[in-house]
Amino acid sequence: PSAPLPANTTPTGPAAATDPAAVVGRLQAAFATGRTRPIAWRKAQLRALRRMLVDQEEVFAAALKADLGKSPTEAYVTEVGFTVKEIDHTLRHLARWLRPRRVAVPPALAPARARTVREPLGTVLVISPWNYPLQLALTPLVGALAAGNCAVVKPSELAPATSAALAHWLPRVLDPQAVAVVEGGVPETTALLEQRFDHVFYTGNGAVGRIVMTAAARHLTPVTLELGGKSPAVVDPGADLAAAARRIVWGKFMNAGQTCVAPDYVLAIGDTAPALEAELTAAIREMYGEDPARSADYGRIVNERHFDRLTALLADGRLVTGGDHDRAGRYLAPTVLADVDPEAPVMREEIFGPVLPIVRVPDLDAAIAFVTARDKPLALYAFTASARTRRRLIAETSSGALSFGIPNAHLTVPGLPFGGVGESGQGAYHGRYSVETFSHTKAVLAKPLALDTLRLAYPPFTPGKSRLL
Ligand code: NAD
Repeated sequence: PSAPLPANTTPTGPAAATDPAAVVGRLQAAFATGRTRPIAWRKAQLRALRRMLVDQEEVFAAALKADLGKSPTEAYVTEVGFTVKEIDHTLRHLARWLRPRRVAVPPALAPARARTVREPLGTVLVISPWNYPLQLALTPLVGALAAGNCAVVKPSELAPATSAALAHWLPRVLDPQAVAVVEGGVPETTALLEQRFDHVFYTGNGAVGRIVMTAAARHLTPVTLELGGKSPAVVDPGADLAAAARRIVWGKFMNAGQTCVAPDYVLAIGDTAPALEAELTAAIREMYGEDPARSADYGRIVNERHFDRLTALLADGRLVTGGDHDRAGRYLAPTVLADVDPEAPVMREEIFGPVLPIVRVPDLDAAIAFVTARDKPLALYAFTASARTRRRLIAETSSGALSFGIPNAHLTVPGLPFGGVGESGQGAYHGRYSVETFSHTKAVLAKPLALDTLRLAYPPFTPGKSRLL
């Protein structure tokens, strides 16, 4: 699956197909006609996208199975259904989000009217990763279209079946003048990034995030960077450890741990670690059975490179459960490691796979110090019965999101922004935050010329005039 795919783009004529400048130029020309501005066009695009997801659900489920071994249920909940819900939420509220907002005018300027008006940015680029290859390509696209933009979607070459399905279907259901899919890997993305876009929306790792931001800077193009990092799960004594373990196992081993917001490691406060080890083991067995290799609900590692990277981490702690692996099948069992040294390799990089280290810390102060000494995570999770612990974590740590009692789920709350901070990214999206990301808030001020009240402010100045404006 890691072999580069031939570049395959989807404009109208094959000659223009492989030339990124031609693809972007065509979209820019379409934007200039104003066709994407009416709310009716935007809603029609969103409805067409929704119809595609519903009608082609099996096609996308099969692609996700081929790319990542995703179970149809998980594929629906986290990819197809997730995107459908995002579309429904956007369709329901879009008119309100786009409405101009009146703003008060200072008395010295009266009579006058001030308001903010949302305008589309133009032509935007969405670069997406392989782990949720459908959702992470389409959810940003929903925002781009809702805000009235033209868009190029660049799916991940590491999820080739989903990439091919998107390249096949999107131009058939969406306005092909306004939306293009460009498939490919580094060379194709590099060529795209040389073009002048009005926004670049990138989801993936921070090393490439830097490349994207550097390329965008040459055109002064704003970026949204949805990156990753090590999201901790803090477990406090006094929490219901069995329930906490089930929640952590659910969030961690979904998509075989290849989830940007998955709990990366557990910070076990005080004496919680031994009991937690047993509860995590029990929860894994409950969800994936005696042999997770035979569970239809457990995914596979995306490719050999990631498989080798992950199996090299298995020696970084005492094996509590899991560890079984099979390179040919890209299978790595849900694995828990205990007594992990905070300096071990497994604690240095984002794991992004089904390996869960447990690090012990003596108390909440030590847990907070541990989190704040490292890069700001995309998410911080805490399992605690203490309101004081919750208050301290809110006030004393920084992360893209902070959830108590449940991992991963904050991104399914449509009213919450989804994004990182610091090393975990910049900018946010979902729902109205997507529309904000993909539009410009223009200040509009109108003062009638008749009745020239400004006369009082014109030179020649007198002492009284200087106080008027
Ligand atoms: P990936 O390898 O699929 O890369 C992402 C995209 O970048 C792809 O489209 C790829 O073609 C492109 N790319 C790769 N190298 C490039 C280069 N040199 N120049 C230009 N483009 C290039 O995915 P990945 O980065 O391995 O994804 C995993 C990472 O993404 C993890 O760190 C994860 O936490 C993060 N992630 C974040 C979110 C989020 O929403 N914040 C979601 C999913 C994944």
